[in-house]
Formats: sequence, C-alpha cells, structure tokens
Amino acid sequence: MSFDSAQTLNLVPFVSVDDMMNIVLDIGVETVLAGIAGYIETDFARWELFDKTPRIAAHSPDGVIELMPTSDGTEYAFKYVNGHPKNMKEGLQTVTAFGVLADVNSGYPVLISEMTILTALRTAAMSAVAARHLAPAGSQTMAIIGNGAQSEFQALAFGTILGIRTLRLYDIDPVATRKCATNLAGRGFEIVQCASAEEAVEGADIITTVTADKQCATILTDNMVGSGVHINAIGGDCPGKTELHRDILLRSDIFVEFPPQTRIEGEIQQLDPDHPVTELWEVITGSASGRTSARQVTLFDSVGFAIEDFSALRYLRDQLERTGRFQTLDMIADPDEPRDLFGMILRAGAER
Ligand code: NAD
Repeated sequence: MSFDSAQTLNLVPFVSVDDMMNIVLDIGVETVLAGIAGYIETDFARWELFDKTPRIAAHSPDGVIELMPTSDGTEYAFKYVNGHPKNMKEGLQTVTAFGVLADVNSGYPVLISEMTILTALRTAAMSAVAARHLAPAGSQTMAIIGNGAQSEFQALAFGTILGIRTLRLYDIDPVATRKCATNLAGRGFEIVQCASAEEAVEGADIITTVTADKQCATILTDNMVGSGVHINAIGGDCPGKTELHRDILLRSDIFVEFPPQTRIEGEIQQLDPDHPVTELWEVITGSASGRTSARQVTLFDSVGFAIEDFSALRYLRDQLERTGRFQTLDMIADPDEPRDLFGMILRAGAER
C-alpha cells in the first residue's frame, strides 16, 4: 500500500525497528545523516514559528522517562524517550524511544515510528550541524569518549558532514571500544583505540563526550582541553548527570538548543542561571556568531530538543513513499457517520 492510500483509508503508517533498519540500509546511513541534518537546519532556521517547551521529565532513582512535544502550527510531533544508564549492564538499551507526527488541522496522527535508531541518527546529525558552525576549520581528528550505542552514529555524521578522518576512541569498557572500532572498519577512518580519556584527546580538534552515568561525572578535566578545541558534549542531559568539569565551562563559549531546557539538564546546570549562552538557531540563521577565533574553546552543550525529533520524523515521513518501508496500523476509529461511534461497534458485533 502506498503512503498516500494509507492516509486516505485512515490507516496510520508505522515504522518498526525492522523497517527503520531497512530504510537506513536502502538509503545508506551517511545519506540519512546528511538528510536529517538538512531538515534540522531548515527547522532551526524557522525556530520562532515553533511551540517550544522544556521536555516533561519523570525522574526515578535509576533513570528518566521524558515526553518531548513541539509544533510548527501545521504539523505536531512528540517523542517518548527514556534514559537509564544502568540498563546496559542488564542487556537493555540505555535510551529507547518512539514518536508520532500528526496533522494539526485534523489532529490525526500521520506517522508513528520507532525512534531508538532515529534518535541516534538525529542526535549525531544535530551534533554535526552544530560542529559545522563551531569546530575549527579543517578539523580532521575527533576523540569519542564513551563508545556505546550512540558512538558510531556520531562518528559517521562527523565523517560525512565535517570530513573527520581520524577517530580516537576511549571507553572505560575496552569491549565497547573494540565494538565501535570493528563496526566502523572500512568506512574510511583511521581509528586509534586509546587506553585513557587523556590519551584520546591528544591532538583532537573535536572532543565528543557520549558516556552514560547517572551522576555528575568528570569525563574531561580542564587541563585536557587545549585552546581552539570544539567540545560536543552529549551525555550530560539530565539534572545531576553531567560530564565536564565546571572550569571547562567557565572558559568556553557555550552553544545550546533551547536554554530553558538546557539550564535544567545540560552541563550549564553547574553554572549561574544567567551565565551567557548562545542559542544555536541564531548561529544557523546568522544572527549570532559561531566560532570567531582559532584559539576559542567552543562547547555544544547538547541535551536533545523536540524540534530535532520533529525534523527527523518529517525526514522519515518523506522517505516512506519511495522506500515503502512501513506497515499500517488500524488505530483511528472511522465510522461512516462520525457521531455513530457506538453504532460501528454494533455493526461489527452483527457481522461476527
Ligand atoms: P550506552 O550505555 O550505550 O553507552 C555509554 C558508554 O559510556 C558505555 O559504553 C560505558 O561503558 C561508557 N562510559 C560510562 N562512563 C564512562 C566514563 N567515565 N568514561 C568513558 N566511558 C564511560 O549509552 P548511549 O545510548 O550511547 O548514550 C550515551 C549518552 O548519551 C547517555 O548519557 C544518553 O543519555 C546520552 N544521549 C544524549 C542525547 C542528546 O541528544 N544529547 C541523545 C541520546 C543519548
């Protein structure tokens, strides 16, 4: 069934994990990353149109479950996502997600999708979009500290969008580093597996921190960050869950997605509430500067914002007609006469 005829029949296209893997394999992961990056840039350029709110977080001792809604007035999206660092040791994902894209005019859902893979793709695409404006010109080498589920996506986005060629990998668990290096073999990177975070950051133009630990960790100390470096800090994304020493923040120019959410969840939760930050959308539209000098330390304090998921879902929706990689869900009641919802049950009963 085509995407359009599913809509006409009031069936909701559903992208399963299997469908998502096939979409990535059909299109190619680098092309998907570049495609999502383009949709993110388009949506960040019309930032002021969107309904924006910090995500709604339900915290528990071991993790968090969050709802992330937004709308541009024409389409609406939300994502359900969790973050449970202890899951990995139990053989479960740290982050899982699903989400919905809906039509504001009718209020009907137009797409429901797995978003565990889509989140990894959009987070990496977002990081690369930020780095395109903030990283030193000609960056070739990136350290990745934390070599879990997100890490390969980050590497591939920076490879395809920034031209990163050398990866310096470190994880407290060497098994994770070996997994990451093996998965990225043959993709055009020179890969260096490092024995410490200090070794990983040696000579790096960009440092990506993407660890998972439910505490205020110190993955990077001040002495590890030389002048001119761009830091792509992904793993500090919850109250009480950070990765960078405060001194690094004090000498960095800090760029964020949506300040009201980042001040609660990001690295900047360690700073005064009025510490100056620049909103990334302003850099993308040209109303604020990104990197202005070769010696500046720039920090993208990433927490993940709803508009990125909105962009990723729009990108996905636009791939469905040509890939055909979706199923349909009968999840909208559709009686011939809209007020005859109960009559529809009676007729179904008569036909049984
Ligand atoms: P994961 O559990 O698959 O991997 C995390 C890795 O970090 C593990 O391999 C672990 O061994 C390693 N690690 C933990 N402490 C470390 C330390 N001190 N030094 C080096 N390595 C360490 O998790 P994931 O799915 O890859 O997610 C990583 C982080 O990114 C999580 O904190 C998650 O919440 C966050 N995240 C952020 C965004 C965003 O938009 N900013 C999106 C997705 C995930």
